[in-house]
Amino acid sequence: MYNAKAFAAASDTSPLALTTIPRRAPGESDVQIEILFCGVCHSDLHQVRDEWKESMPTVYPCVPGHEIVGRVTAVGSSVTGFKPGDLAAVGCMVDSDGTCSECKAGQEQFCANFTLTYNFPDAHLGGVTFGGYSDSIVVDERFVLHVPNNLDLAGVAPLLCAGITTYSPMRHWGVTKGKKVGVVGLGGLGHMAVKFAHALGAHVVVFTTSPSKKEDALRLGADEVVISKNADEMEKHVGSFDFILDAVSADHDINAYLNLLRRDGNLTLVGAPEKLSVAPFSLIMGRRSLSGSPIGGIAETQEMLNFCGEQNITADVEVIPIQKINDAYERLLKSDVKYRFSIDMASLKSDS
Ligand SMILES: [Zn+2]
Ligand SMILES: [Zn+2]
Repeated sequence: MYNAKAFAAASDTSPLALTTIPRRAPGESDVQIEILFCGVCHSDLHQVRDEWKESMPTVYPCVPGHEIVGRVTAVGSSVTGFKPGDLAAVGCMVDSDGTCSECKAGQEQFCANFTLTYNFPDAHLGGVTFGGYSDSIVVDERFVLHVPNNLDLAGVAPLLCAGITTYSPMRHWGVTKGKKVGVVGLGGLGHMAVKFAHALGAHVVVFTTSPSKKEDALRLGADEVVISKNADEMEKHVGSFDFILDAVSADHDINAYLNLLRRDGNLTLVGAPEKLSVAPFSLIMGRRSLSGSPIGGIAETQEMLNFCGEQNITADVEVIPIQKINDAYERLLKSDVKYRFSIDMASLKSDS
C-alpha cells in the first residue's frame, strides 16, 4: 500500500479539498498509472452531494472522477499489454467478475458484479474505491485502455464516460453513412454525440432550445440545427429520423421526438429526467422503439478510442487546476462550460 494525493469531499455539504488516500501496491495483473487529466462528469457532482441516496449512497471521504488519462508508472509481473511510459486510460469501471455471460460477451457494463471506479466496495483494500481526482491509481490490466498518441490528452479524458456513452448506442443502433441522426441537447454528452454521428457519416440534426448554440452545433459537425420550441421547424422533420440520441436530463416532451422517427426508428436516452411520459401511439405507429443505454464494454471503449485516434476526435474542454473544482461544480449546475471540464492533475502535485 502507498499514499496518493487526492481531492475528496468529507460530507455531502463540504467542498472538495486536498487529502491523502491509500492505493494498493500494484499486484500481478495491475497497472499503476500517474494521472495526468481527469474529466469532470455530472455524476461526480451527484455522488459527492449524495443526490443518489436511494440507489448509491455516498461513502465519505469521496474521491470522484471516472474520466482518467495518464501514463503507466509500474506494471505487475503478469501484465503483457502495458509497460511503464505508455499512455493509459480508465473509465467508469475498474473490475468485474469476468465469468458471467455479460463479461464473456464483452459487455462488462452489464455485469452484476462489476466494480465502479469510485464509491464502490473495494475488494482489495476494503472501504470504497477512490476515483481519478488523484495523482495516481492502480487498476487491473483488463480495465485499462490504450490511448492513441496523436490526441490532446486533456480532451481525451472525457471520452472515457461522455464519449463511450454516446458512441456505444450509435454503434448498437447502426448509425452509418446515409442515416439521419438527431441529437437532443448540446452539452457534455450531446457535443460528443454530434462529433461521432458526423464522423460515422450520418446526416446530423441538433435539437436545442437555445438559438445561441446554433453556430457551435454547426462547427461541431451538425448539418442542421432545429430550435425545438419552434413547432413549424419540428413539423418539417416528422417521420424522418433513423435514430435520435436524447441527452437531456431536464423534463421534456419525449413524444415530440418519438414522432420524428421513421418506421423502426429508435430513440435512445442517455440523459435521465426524473420522469418521462410516453404516449403509446408515439411508439405503436411506425413500430418505433425507445431505449436507454449506459457507457459501453471495455472492448468497445477501446474501439471508440481507436476511432477517435483515426478521426482526430477529442472532447472540447476547459482545462482547470484541481483547486478550481468547487467553482467548476457551481458552473456545471448552470451548464456554464463548453463542453467539459478537464482537470490538469499537475496542479495537484504542486498543492501541499
Ligand atoms: Zn460519467
Ligand atoms: Zn460479469
